Amino acid sequence: MASKYSEIADSLKTLYLEDPRPWLVGFSGGKDSTMVASMVVAAVLAVPPEQRKKDVTIVCTDTRVEIPAIVETIESTLARISKCSTENALNIEVHLLRPPPQDSFWANIIGRGYPPPNRVFRWCTKRLKIDPVTTFVTKRIGRWGEAILHLGARRAESSTRAQTMSNRESRNGLCRHPDLPRVWVSNPIEHLTTEEVWAFLLQKPNPWGGDNRPLYKLYASASNGECPIQIDTSTPSCGNSRFGCWTCTVVERDKASEGLLAAGDERMEPLIEFRGALQFYRDPANGKRDMKRKNGDEGPGPLHIEARRELLSRLLKLQEETGLKLISDDELFIIQQLWKSARRPDDGGGVARIVTRQKGVIMNDWKEVTRLRELENQVAEEKRIRAETLRRMIGKVDEFSESHRAVGLPDDLLAILKDDLEHVEPEEQLMALRDSL
Ligand code: SF4
Repeated sequence: MASKYSEIADSLKTLYLEDPRPWLVGFSGGKDSTMVASMVVAAVLAVPPEQRKKDVTIVCTDTRVEIPAIVETIESTLARISKCSTENALNIEVHLLRPPPQDSFWANIIGRGYPPPNRVFRWCTKRLKIDPVTTFVTKRIGRWGEAILHLGARRAESSTRAQTMSNRESRNGLCRHPDLPRVWVSNPIEHLTTEEVWAFLLQKPNPWGGDNRPLYKLYASASNGECPIQIDTSTPSCGNSRFGCWTCTVVERDKASEGLLAAGDERMEPLIEFRGALQFYRDPANGKRDMKRKNGDEGPGPLHIEARRELLSRLLKLQEETGLKLISDDELFIIQQLWKSARRPDDGGGVARIVTRQKGVIMNDWKEVTRLRELENQVAEEKRIRAETLRRMIGKVDEFSESHRAVGLPDDLLAILKDDLEHVEPEEQLMALRDSL
């Protein structure tokens, strides 16, 4: 077995020295990517100091709703790798990437009213995991031209994974990334079994110090695999009893969270309960969703505004009780923006009222809000549209200006108009539409 490990180590060292392209390493904190990170750091250490010129970047995603014990382990590992790099002039950077607040789990659920994800509508992986990495890599590639991305994928994980890996175009053992054409993927441990990975991790100390017994214990507690770092849509769902978000409703039961609770991590109990609430809110039978879709068609639509308020209130209460940072101020401000363009929109002070009630903290200038509301009423009257419609449209424009893009804005504005016109008497509809455009 030792020869398998040294073969991988040798080929990484050769690649480092003979191929000038910078390296990226996908790190999830799980066993496979820990092994790859460990071998990459060891490979750089094995190169004479004067030849350690290559840019090596270790990237990890934090969805902002990660299981606390997992994110703590990841943060401490990344800090150790960074320290090791500085001390040994390895030229290795580490980056913990988070989705921007406007794409976060809470901005989508509580702000936009997306139903909590399930297998059919799994909107989360792309927004929370893939997009932050794609944005980061795309920026870097602009500077680099091409790069090699090392991942911890293994054929033994599943037959689907083995099939996907063997179907990819490859050159010198590297496959072209399916979505990022200037990125070449290397899977150094693709032929290892799970036992071989654990044997490596438990026998060898990490090059950045410390051993992997805590990681093994974490696995034993959670009794399953990790949510692999997601770099494209063809990798398997992370919502499959793996380490992932504590809010994950893609799985029926979150065995990782339950395992951690059973192993004594009591923080998980209220989080598991909250996850149960998210499942309840998703089910249209429980009356928490509009019975009209976003485009106006009949059928279960977004969570209605009262449900979003309830969830925010419960989340803030949970945050107080656990002492964990579960939602950021940036996300709260984005949610307020989003509520202004909801059906039955908020007056622009709803989030502030809930936060004030929960935490006793004043978030907004109420005089300002009231003045703005009066102005909106005046303009709506002049334009002969409902004030509510105008507020939703302004909210939508604000939302787009937050993200500095306008693609889709006209369609969204028309959808708001179409939706609101249903509240207006037929003879007024044509006039209102004409005047407001
Ligand atoms: S762990 Fe679950 S909620 Fe989180 S990104 Fe993966 S599928 Fe979505």
